[in-house]
Amino acid sequence: MPQSASSSSPGNPLLREWTGPFGLPPLADIAAEHFPPAFELALGRHKAEIEAVAADPAAPTFDNTIAALERSGALLERISNVFFLLAGAHTSDALQAVERDISPVLARHNNEIYLNPALFRRIDELYRRRDALELTAEARRVLERYHTRFVRAGAAAGPEAQRRLAAIGERLASLGTAFGQNVLADEKAYALVLEESDLAGLPGFVLDAARAAAAERGLPGKHVITLSRSSIEPFLQFSARRELREKAFQAWIGRGENGGATDNRGIVTEMVALRAERAKLLGFETFADFRLDDQMAKTPQAVRGLLDQVWTRARARARRERDELQDIARAEGGNFAVAPWDWRYYAEKLRKARFDFDEAQIKPYFQLDRMIEAAFETARRLFGLTFTAVELPLYHPDARTWEVKDAQGGHVGLFIGDYFHRASKHSGAWMTSLRDQQKLSGDIRPIIVNVTNFAKPPPGEPALLSFDDARTLFHEFGHALHGLLSDVTYPLLAGTAVPSDFVELPSQLYEHWLEVPEILTSYARHYKTGERIPQALLDRLLATRTFNQGFATVEYTSSALVDLDLHSLTDTSGLDVSDFERNRLAHLGMPEEIVMRHRLPHFQHLFSGGGYAAAYYSYLWSEVLDADAFLAFEEKGDAFDPEVARRLREFIYSAGNRRDPAEAYKAFRGRLPTVDALLKKRGLDAPAPERA
Ligand SMILES: [Zn+2]
Repeated sequence: MPQSASSSSPGNPLLREWTGPFGLPPLADIAAEHFPPAFELALGRHKAEIEAVAADPAAPTFDNTIAALERSGALLERISNVFFLLAGAHTSDALQAVERDISPVLARHNNEIYLNPALFRRIDELYRRRDALELTAEARRVLERYHTRFVRAGAAAGPEAQRRLAAIGERLASLGTAFGQNVLADEKAYALVLEESDLAGLPGFVLDAARAAAAERGLPGKHVITLSRSSIEPFLQFSARRELREKAFQAWIGRGENGGATDNRGIVTEMVALRAERAKLLGFETFADFRLDDQMAKTPQAVRGLLDQVWTRARARARRERDELQDIARAEGGNFAVAPWDWRYYAEKLRKARFDFDEAQIKPYFQLDRMIEAAFETARRLFGLTFTAVELPLYHPDARTWEVKDAQGGHVGLFIGDYFHRASKHSGAWMTSLRDQQKLSGDIRPIIVNVTNFAKPPPGEPALLSFDDARTLFHEFGHALHGLLSDVTYPLLAGTAVPSDFVELPSQLYEHWLEVPEILTSYARHYKTGERIPQALLDRLLATRTFNQGFATVEYTSSALVDLDLHSLTDTSGLDVSDFERNRLAHLGMPEEIVMRHRLPHFQHLFSGGGYAAAYYSYLWSEVLDADAFLAFEEKGDAFDPEVARRLREFIYSAGNRRDPAEAYKAFRGRLPTVDALLKKRGLDAPAPERA
């Protein structure tokens, strides 16, 4: 609901009533200086709303407590959504300064709500009486979610435990910041400067990037390899200089483990100990038990069950891949065993020999605008949605808007696509929202945004994508549909507000339709001639899907297993991070030629913030779901089977967090997922190929 203007800030567009088309914020009028006063007003208003709920003299009811909480904070939400969209997609020094100031303020604000004893007493009382309240299934779910969130934040703990939890939280936050800064410092401190004679094997795009990196470091005219993944991985893939590959590789895997001020091992030890203590204070045996309790997986045993099944097969496959690489090395006269710094180099040679094509042949068939149409057409055939371009003033001229309608022509929401890289945009690709769907305060329709970093073409030329870019476009559009199709009453449950091991299902699943022949042959057309992509080229492109997957799966799964082991410790005294990692890998039978994708001293998913601590498995878990979910269409022999699509919409894309994810999946599929489809997708199910 639009908030009315504040008399104290008559000129602030964040606080005006948003009366433009579709209630879109006046993005073109908003500047960084509008945010601090708007946040201040919105935080104050939310505090007052929370206090009114907590201090209500009436006995708690669902409406005066849970629904009231759901209605509170509307202005803060509205301003935060605009702010975080801009802070990610079109930031500036001024916005970054606001971000540094506002982040801890927002964190404290949330913490105060979760540790408000009067508020928790009301929620807890309702939770205890939930069977007698005669709630709808969705209302009951939202009550349970509130209760769980408060309890997990420490609301049910005694005052002493709460004080300790707060101290642990603050200490973990500063350790997490230090961890990330140390990794960054080690990366900045290193540069492999290449002489002319060191460039053997490096293709043009690697040389271009190395020259740019050199210029950035004040070495114009030189070539520099850095420790960022996008610099070192291509170097390892192409450099013919074995001793340089080794040198760079050792520096790369040594980040955070170099002794001195940037060594992260002490930080890891302390963070693991603090997390274990937090879990104990909240009544769990280990941090992994605590973390997974609120995920779809629910227990470390369930995660281990999946990882173990994948691990054995991946390791066997990786050994066969190693033998193939060893054959190439030997045939070239290399008198050595393939080492970790050789793997990418010989894998690239094998890939070239086996599939023989490069990016330059593919790109002319993957035009950005055609791929956007392909994603829209897929949504039309699955869910009856249509997309019509509308001209609306946004925050940057490259961002575009479409109105989304359903099969009956009814308004579904707005979709904004912001596709091109620019200096003001964070790297990567993501989905976010300016407004989430809900029905508690009227029929509120969503405004969903996809942000990507595709290379912007010179004026007048079409934007051409790599196949990976096209996959990213479909992935993020899958998240967008999760937001657009959301059909819930309560904001807490809307769209993508699901556990992290479930949230990648709608996005990863959507990637499958990019490879469906009807979509590819209609939309992958040469940008000049309009010709379809040649079948032979397409076949080779799709065949690379399972190439080198033993290596990739071993790299990933070993990291997930070590993460789980580390966060399953009950006694962390005397923990030596390097020893722990070495012992766990020996126990797993890690192949000597492969190193974890992220070693513990620089494993930012786990320690730079805590997002994926004990949860690095999430990516693979979601992949089990997406492979198994797409199989439901394949079993019908139709990638657009109407009945499967209807269930997919009802139980997954429109369902938000209305029910437990495992139940939702069962309702869609008629059973829980099995790992078979994932193994097939990664090529881990096939018997060993005959060796020549
Ligand atoms: Zn995603």
